[in-house]
Amino acid sequence: MDAKLLEILVCPVCKGPLLVRREASDLVCKPCRLAFPVRDGIPVMLVDDAQALPAGLDL
Ligand SMILES: [Zn+2]
Repeated sequence: MDAKLLEILVCPVCKGPLLVRREASDLVCKPCRLAFPVRDGIPVMLVDDAQALPAGLDL
């Protein structure tokens, strides 16, 4: 994934920074506990497509 692209990506909900989970190929917003998928190298920044993270998950 492009590092420059990652710098400008923010959470669509809270506009906060995102954490890259390379092993899961997704982008995580900690405050919102949402994981946004990366498909074919393209981050999908849609809340409808985001996965809710379990409350107990340690990020
Ligand atoms: Zn957020």
